[in-house]
Amino acid sequence: MATRSRPSSKKCTVIGGSGFLGQHMVERLLERGYIVNVFDIRKGFESEKVQFFLGDLCKKQDLLPALEGVTVVFHCASPPPSSDNKQLFYNVNYTGTQTVIQACKEAGVQKLVLTSSASVVFEGTDIKNGQEDLPYAKKPIDYYTETKILQEKDVLKANSPDDNFLTVAIRPHGIFGPRDPQLVPILVEAAKSGKMKFMIGNGKNLVDFTYVDNVVHGHILAAEHLQKDSPLCGKAYHITNDEPVPFWTFMTEMLEGLNYDAPKYSIPYWLAYYLACLVSLLVLLLKPLITLKPTFTPMRVALAGTFHYYSCEQAKRDMGYKPVCSLEEGIRRTVQSYPHLRRDG
Ligand code: NAD
Repeated sequence: MATRSRPSSKKCTVIGGSGFLGQHMVERLLERGYIVNVFDIRKGFESEKVQFFLGDLCKKQDLLPALEGVTVVFHCASPPPSSDNKQLFYNVNYTGTQTVIQACKEAGVQKLVLTSSASVVFEGTDIKNGQEDLPYAKKPIDYYTETKILQEKDVLKANSPDDNFLTVAIRPHGIFGPRDPQLVPILVEAAKSGKMKFMIGNGKNLVDFTYVDNVVHGHILAAEHLQKDSPLCGKAYHITNDEPVPFWTFMTEMLEGLNYDAPKYSIPYWLAYYLACLVSLLVLLLKPLITLKPTFTPMRVALAGTFHYYSCEQAKRDMGYKPVCSLEEGIRRTVQSYPHLRRDG
């Protein structure tokens, strides 16, 4: 019979540790004295301080070696929302997460911390100071979110104090920070191609953008407060900057910080939404002839033009969460970290 190495309460595995959030998580965990394994399908960075395990989380035999002797697993792997591959989302986020749960149980892991998303309750209409007890979206904004819902439900259901297996989910929203391959590079690309001239709506809609260090802090606090009989068991928590900001103010600060012009004109929300619906209809009609992937979609219009910010009071109460970096400082650090994307002049 194979012998299981003794778990150390400071030994953890970050699934998706090569990604944007994952790498920041690894850095903070090392600073806090954790022994860190990174599990990912790719090696995203070099470090002698961590042990890398390359593999697919959909395969239990890939996962098991990375979980040996580990107490806590942080699961922050996912295909990018932009990948637009339904089967991949389903396989990785849903059935793959079921495999993660099985592998954790088999390896004797005691705590599983999932990175979920606040979008699991968002249906494209205003959410102001949303609490965790909002129902899951009946009509999720996209298929990625649909699989994030399935994933979160399964992880929370797997919480089982009697089996010494505890689970919790963190729901971040709009993560930003240095080395993010999505938000800033996409924003700069849009600005360069002249797509950032129009603001959607009146510019007053508040949303959460959450600096990556705060998201990491929330995950680590969740792992450390997740104990038998603690309120965290089997629950989901919003982690935000606790400073909702108008969507277009945030975009303006990022753009101007990188020396690009902020949007000058505004287009009414309803008009943008119906135009995006029209584009989607055209794409559907033309599908037999040509495949088009428009970026101007009703979902993107909703994300840019509605209120969607969430309360993190529950995380403050149950795990003593408090943002470690303000929005202003987060924006400053982020802008500074992209000198190569700055417009000259
Ligand atoms: P990312 O794409 O930078 O990182 C995801 C990592 O998962 C990548 O390194 C990728 O290689 C890995 N991965 C994908 N499929 C895998 C597989 N089959 N096996 C092993 N590894 C695999 O994404 P991110 O922005 O760091 O997001 C991390 C998590 O946070 C995701 O779960 C995402 O849904 C969630 N989230 C992100 C945001 C955001 O604004 N970025 C907001 C809310 C929630």
